[in-house]
Amino acid sequence: EKLGVALVGLGYYSTDLLAPALQLTEKCYLAGIVTGTPAKAETWKTKYNIPEKNIYTYENFDKIADNPDIDIVYVVLPPSMHREFVVRAAKAGKHVFCEKPMAPSVADCEAMIAACKSNKVKLAIGYRCQHDPNIQAYMKVAKEQKFGKVKMVTSAAGYVDNRTTHWKQNKKLGGGVMGDMGVYALQGARLATGEEPISVIAQASTTRPEIYKEVEETMMFMLDFPSGARAACQTSFGTNMNHLQVNYEKGWLKMEPHSGYNGNKGSMSDGTVINFPIKSQQAKQMDEDALAIMNNTDLIAPGEEGLRDIRVVEAIYKSVASGKSVKI
Ligand code: NAD
Repeated sequence: EKLGVALVGLGYYSTDLLAPALQLTEKCYLAGIVTGTPAKAETWKTKYNIPEKNIYTYENFDKIADNPDIDIVYVVLPPSMHREFVVRAAKAGKHVFCEKPMAPSVADCEAMIAACKSNKVKLAIGYRCQHDPNIQAYMKVAKEQKFGKVKMVTSAAGYVDNRTTHWKQNKKLGGGVMGDMGVYALQGARLATGEEPISVIAQASTTRPEIYKEVEETMMFMLDFPSGARAACQTSFGTNMNHLQVNYEKGWLKMEPHSGYNGNKGSMSDGTVINFPIKSQQAKQMDEDALAIMNNTDLIAPGEEGLRDIRVVEAIYKSVASGKSVKI
């Protein structure tokens, strides 16, 4: 028994990662698509054998309520559109997967959580890394205090994005590196400490103002955690980087990469190696989330987890605007 998933938005991530992963999943399958581009509908229909009745446009999407083939709607649109489509999916009575960053604001995230709650559907955020045993390995170190308390975290995530008119360079569509790669740098710090930050100070910058006019190219931010642990985080559309270092009272842990699609690996000061094989993060993520829906159990990364990040992201932008440290 497999749950039917409809992908909303057939851009890079749906095309290159999610649709292929849905060929590997055992608890869910690609049952439908929602697209604004008729040519894409034709291509996908043939390639993935999708029946005509399971193909929707953004306009007639709400009719999905009457389609028993679709159990889950997976929103893979630019961040500014996540709220609208999550709410519409929830109102249609469908469970929802939503890509990261959950939405541009805390208010959006809260509205999305409320809509799913009142329509009695589950909401999972596409935090594929939290389904990766390599990431779970360093989360466990913090939880078990293997090397004592966390003292310092250094966390970085970035790649070079030379596009000029993509939504990632557009403020209104929810662009900016902080929501995009920044949530990985932030999650590195949150997951490595197992704590929620209580304050942040941040600085935004760009080396290419001709491209990064509306949104930041680079964000550097420092977080304070309740235990006294501190994190220095950086994220950029101008630099290729992906690493995490955690210094504890009695040892250290390093990961590089720490938020890739595959190959996340690391080592610890006692010689322990982190290098679990994983075939497809996205397939594991969707199967585990589908299973949680089937069994009505807790999701690994529910809407509340997406909101925790956006709360920090909002504080980061406030800090940039004021030049001061902001309490969270
Ligand atoms: P993309 O630009 O390649 O695709 C976006 C899709 O949305 C396109 O099909 C586009 O046609 C459609 N769209 C509809 N209305 C639009 C509008 N007004 N402006 C722009 N596009 C519009 O982007 P993507 O890289 O596929 O990202 C989509 C979502 O997936 C984002 O939330 C992104 O952060 C997320 N993502 C997550 C991961 C991950 O590892 N979890 C990786 C990549 C992207």
